[in-house]
Amino acid sequence: MRNDAKCAGLAEKTYGSLKKYKDCVFLCLGTGIGGSVFYKGKEFKPYRNSGFEIGHMIIKSDGHLCNCGKKGCFETYCSIKRLKNKIINELGLDKSISAVDLLKVLDINKNNEKLQKIIKEYIEYLNIGLSNIIDIVEPQAIALGGSFVYFEKVLYEKLVELYYSKRYVFNKKELPDLKLAALGNDAGIIGATI
Ligand SMILES: [Zn+2]
Repeated sequence: MRNDAKCAGLAEKTYGSLKKYKDCVFLCLGTGIGGSVFYKGKEFKPYRNSGFEIGHMIIKSDGHLCNCGKKGCFETYCSIKRLKNKIINELGLDKSISAVDLLKVLDINKNNEKLQKIIKEYIEYLNIGLSNIIDIVEPQAIALGGSFVYFEKVLYEKLVELYYSKRYVFNKKELPDLKLAALGNDAGIIGATI
């Protein structure tokens, strides 16, 4: 059975942001990080396990402890859950704050230096993770989904700026198109029915 991120990836590939691409990657940034890879138009599936545990590639030696038991996994730096928790701790917010209210708080505090530092660090690690995927898979496009899409206003512009600077990628001639999931959070449900 496919997990949520893989269902969402399949939906994006079939109906959404990745429809016109043959080689592409879907990355679901939410409570963790999951993803799927499409190669020559088909989902790339290993015989054993589900594969592409992108969230558990280590991007920092001896970094944050991950739920999987390893340290420094991509998702301990770039899941939306971790980002939210950092912001909540830094600004002393209620842990149960909704995404809508959190966005309002972020807007009010957009000049807060500590907040800017958290977001800058998030974008930095996200670009490192993306470049690792790009260097290995060489996709035509990467789509970002999950609850990341709710925070588009706060994160996307800064992400794009660093992404197109090509700082971390090996192949500086052809950067994959960077897309946002077109089907939003329903993608997982749609994908489960394909
Ligand atoms: Zn992990």
